[in-house]
Amino acid sequence: MAQQPVFDQDGDQRVDEEFIDDVTDAEERETAHRERGTSRPITVVGNPVLHKECKDVTAFDDELGRLIDDMFASQRTAEGVGLAANQIGVDLKVFVYDCLDDEGVRHVGAVCNPVLDELPAERRILDDSNEGCLSVPGAYAELPRPDYAVVRGQDAKGETVAIRGTGYFARCLQHETDHLYGYLYIDRLSKRERKDALKQMAEREPRYPVVAND
Ligand SMILES: [Zn+2]
Repeated sequence: MAQQPVFDQDGDQRVDEEFIDDVTDAEERETAHRERGTSRPITVVGNPVLHKECKDVTAFDDELGRLIDDMFASQRTAEGVGLAANQIGVDLKVFVYDCLDDEGVRHVGAVCNPVLDELPAERRILDDSNEGCLSVPGAYAELPRPDYAVVRGQDAKGETVAIRGTGYFARCLQHETDHLYGYLYIDRLSKRERKDALKQMAEREPRYPVVAND
């Protein structure tokens, strides 16, 4: 896979072999996935599958490929920029994304068994933009998160990958990784903000199919 130009800390452009290229042919790749896939309804807060750590992906086979296709289809139906497998009820550590970074560049990909890098203190610049989640439909809340993130894991074939995100894409990588460990963004809010988010959700009809909770 081709390498993408990145910028080092001095702002000089260089080729960095460590990070995957999830930018080239983003539109074509996203379209191919979702056209092969079938959209599935989205699980919402309260569904047990969202509130526990998912299982590691160990089989990098056709079934995983079909799951990823279905996730892209579901993400598009729900107009999301990221989707974790447990958001369509599947207990596996994989997420997909289709998200713009802080320079408006579109990133498309899938990551299995993601782990976030711990950021050194000087890279922890918090951004307190609004955040929302397809599993908390209709709700938004400000949530400070680092504006830079690196996720390491495996691709659909089991190859080791590292992905770097800035701006909203950094937020997305953190949000989706959280999902696979059983955390929603509202779990990171204060009690009062969490209550407010759930109230926003109760007051609005989801704009896409969801799985009703028992
Ligand atoms: Zn979410």
